[in-house]
Amino acid sequence: MQRTVLITTYLLLVSLPLLASWYYVGQPRIFWQELGSVLGILSFAMILSEFVLSGRVKSFSRKVGMDTTMRFHRIIGWCALVAALIHPFLYSSTPTTGPWPWDSTRQYAVTAEFTAISTGVLAFVLLPVLVVLAVWRSSLDYHYETWRRLHGLIAAALVGLLLHHTLTAGRYAANESVAVLWQILSFVALLTLIYRYFIAPLFQVSNPWRVSAIEKLSNKQWKLSLEPEGGRAMDYQAGQFAWLKLRHSAFSIRENPFSIASAPAQGSEISFVIKELGDFTSTLGSISVGERAYIDGPYGSLTVDGRSEPGIALIAGGVGIAPMLGIASQLQLTNDPRKLKVIYANRSQEQIVCREQLDAVDTLYVLSEPSQEWVGGTGIVDQQLIESSFTQEQFDSWLFVVCGPVPMMDAVWAALIAKGVPQERILLERFNYD
Ligand SMILES: Cc1cc2nc3c(=O)[nH]c(=O)nc-3n(C[C@H](O)[C@H](O)[C@H](O)COP(=O)(O)OP(=O)(O)OC[C@H]3O[C@@H](n4cnc5c(N)ncnc54)[C@H](O)[C@@H]3O)c2cc1C
Repeated sequence: MQRTVLITTYLLLVSLPLLASWYYVGQPRIFWQELGSVLGILSFAMILSEFVLSGRVKSFSRKVGMDTTMRFHRIIGWCALVAALIHPFLYSSTPTTGPWPWDSTRQYAVTAEFTAISTGVLAFVLLPVLVVLAVWRSSLDYHYETWRRLHGLIAAALVGLLLHHTLTAGRYAANESVAVLWQILSFVALLTLIYRYFIAPLFQVSNPWRVSAIEKLSNKQWKLSLEPEGGRAMDYQAGQFAWLKLRHSAFSIRENPFSIASAPAQGSEISFVIKELGDFTSTLGSISVGERAYIDGPYGSLTVDGRSEPGIALIAGGVGIAPMLGIASQLQLTNDPRKLKVIYANRSQEQIVCREQLDAVDTLYVLSEPSQEWVGGTGIVDQQLIESSFTQEQFDSWLFVVCGPVPMMDAVWAALIAKGVPQERILLERFNYD
């Protein structure tokens, strides 16, 4: 239901410029030309919507989840690209005509004016570049931050180019109301960038955090704890995540998302369980207590607050245990009456973290490369393991929360669906947007 409402709202918003164009200008034209305009208009509107979809709107991310938002962001990116690439070719079947004095809305003219066309051509080239750089980011060997900078800059340039192209070449945009609408929408899109990189950091500067503890949990995993300098706690729900800036100014583009591994009921200090992976995470060993940090959050919908299911299954692989630790703590500290079962998969015993806390609840540890002395579960988290871990009654009524490596999440998802668990009772968080 919520999904239908959100998709309908999105479609209506994206169609707004098209509806305004038809309302203010009307007049059906040659079919292929009309289709060309429709695709051009929709493509530009979708590109503008991408700014909001990737703009970390907290309430939106709490409802929909960053995962879903980013997947939608990618799908819309492809749709906008296809529409944009087809759009100019649909005009070529009709003769190009210059603007006539009696045709103030340029209804019957396809402009051939160089400046109007040139910005469209530039955008036509830039848009595929933007998509290719994003889709093949991990195969193209360059820094994540470099990609983010490029992505933002190209996207902002596209807005400028497309706005100019629409206002000068677009026949519907010759109408003043339609033109004003495009300008407002473009401004809102760019405002999300301004908010993200200039206004939000101002709030972070006024609410800094300090490293209160750093602890090595395993060969490659760390627990990093932070406390608010001014004592103002973050208003979050267990299982959510935040973007962390450490050793960089609040205005820096260098920030990393991490699930909050602590619970609101534990007080104002928050902690993260972080696995060494790349540039930032491999510096954790050199971080000292007292260093200043900035936090942007909370985000995400991996939370069990407000859910009415009688039981909760937390299924984690590796560092995917981080949000589960927060959820389990919150349930314990608030004496939540819901039943709880944790499945925690790792390769070897040394990778298991926070065992004391997990031993206090019903936890099944699963190792794919167990030692001979190991007495817990063995193998990988697959359909068989999921089927043998829960009763049909639990499949029929519990909430399943899953976080871990993508193949594990896919396997768990398929196993749960096969056991009749509806999508609404499965919550997922991917640590990778690729
Ligand atoms: C919602 C979410 C929650 C996460 N929670 C945890 C957690 O609790 N514990 C944990 O260990 N890891 C978590 N991660 C993964 C963590 O963000 C990355 O491992 C970390 O950012 C890598 O940074 P790096 O500089 O060390 O590596 P890099 O070498 O810079 O990057 C390695 C890869 O990490 C990802 N990454 C890097 N920077 C970012 C960024 N700013 N935004 C999104 N992805 C990025 C990219 O896929 C990149 O290719 C989470 C990721 C997401 C999206």
